[in-house]
Amino acid sequence: MRFSELGLHEAVQKAVAEQGYTDPTPIQAAAIPVVLEGGDVIGIAQTGTGKTAAFTLPLLTRLAKGQAAPGAVRALVLAPTRELAVQIEENVRAYSRHLPLRVAVVFGGVGERPQITALRQGCDLLVATPGRLLDLASQGHGDFRDLEVLVLDEADRMLDMGFLPSIRRIVRGLPRDRQTLMFSATLSKEIEQLTSEFQRSPRLVQVGRRSNPAETVEQAFYECPHNLKQLLLAHLLQQPGWDSVLVFSRTKHGADRICRKLAGAGVEALAIHANRSQSQRQRALESFRSGRIRVLVATDIASRGIDVDGITHVVNFDFPDQLEDYVHRIGRTGRAQATGNSVTFLTSEDLPELRKLERLVGKPLPKACRAPGFDYEAATKQAFAAPAPDAAPRPHNRGPGHDRRQRESRPQAPRPGAWHGGRREGGGPGQPGSGGQGRPGPGGKRSWGRNRG
Ligand code: AMP
Repeated sequence: MRFSELGLHEAVQKAVAEQGYTDPTPIQAAAIPVVLEGGDVIGIAQTGTGKTAAFTLPLLTRLAKGQAAPGAVRALVLAPTRELAVQIEENVRAYSRHLPLRVAVVFGGVGERPQITALRQGCDLLVATPGRLLDLASQGHGDFRDLEVLVLDEADRMLDMGFLPSIRRIVRGLPRDRQTLMFSATLSKEIEQLTSEFQRSPRLVQVGRRSNPAETVEQAFYECPHNLKQLLLAHLLQQPGWDSVLVFSRTKHGADRICRKLAGAGVEALAIHANRSQSQRQRALESFRSGRIRVLVATDIASRGIDVDGITHVVNFDFPDQLEDYVHRIGRTGRAQATGNSVTFLTSEDLPELRKLERLVGKPLPKACRAPGFDYEAATKQAFAAPAPDAAPRPHNRGPGHDRRQRESRPQAPRPGAWHGGRREGGGPGQPGSGGQGRPGPGGKRSWGRNRG
């Protein structure tokens, strides 16, 4: 299948060719003709499969027929994070470069003025995060009465982030007679609910297993107690081919700590997480994309929408709290047709999660093993001598009222010690006798750390 067979506008095809794409990816081949028909579509596709172009290209083909009046918005794409919004906008600009369309993006954390100006001029396509869009709309900016198309991108993530009330408010202000496209990595009950609320007889488009990053990414699982993680990371970064590395931390503070420690080991790294300003995040992303720094450390939420080609390795420094995030994380490497590598550090408390992950991914994962060439004994001695703990403990027992991400944390249990292999098996200095970072592995016997020599 070629792009020329999909019925896209010629100007769009030309722009696509200039991007260097020859053939559509499976989600593009499946979704583009259906979106062009004008009905509602629910697309289930993992990250990195080319789903942005899957909705953008037919959308631009539709929009090419008209032009926004001043103040009016013709198509709205809602995205969960600023990074994703910016990336979608960049893609839209690239694909629409031969069309006289107005494109704008609005998201929080930056000044409103330029965004208001763009809305006043009118936009054929507006990309927005829900919070800022509501702010601006409630001040009377943007006329959505003639909106033709609504796209909810990464709808599953928007739900996880608690955007449902905002999305409902936004949708209430849109015409009923519109085309609604929804993209999600998973088809959960919640997503089905969203579909019935916002869509009319949607067609389901789902890409096959071929584009699942869990299949295109070479995955490894290395045993690693908390206090050796930093040393293992430094060791891996010395290996050949580790040219562009995205490291995932469970927490914002953890991400900063990883950067600090890497700096101490002579590796420049930058972090992106929710405590960073938009311009700091953009700068970090740009430095990473341009290759000025080779290590970017991210939390899950901040990482959504990181669209950087050529990431050679993804490192799960901390096992994801939410299993679906594993697929999103490793999908940052091996994007589109390229292959990639992922390495997951496993403490013994992560083991039960690995079994669940296998069920989610639907295929056996490689066995956990010791990292080749890494001297665990020497590293343990070094960690003992180190001035501060490197542990990023998995939180426990947070009680009711937390979101799904948090509910997935395991209950606290008294720990018998030993298998973390660390000097400080409990919490950090501020948490004396905090009961430790976890619990024993199955049967209390699974153990890797200093005792395994
Ligand atoms: P996405 O899943 O939309 O984040 O896209 C993943 C990556 O694939 C991005 O870097 C796109 O630029 C790239 N891409 C999208 N469509 C194609 C295509 N048809 N051929 C090659 N690369 C593509």
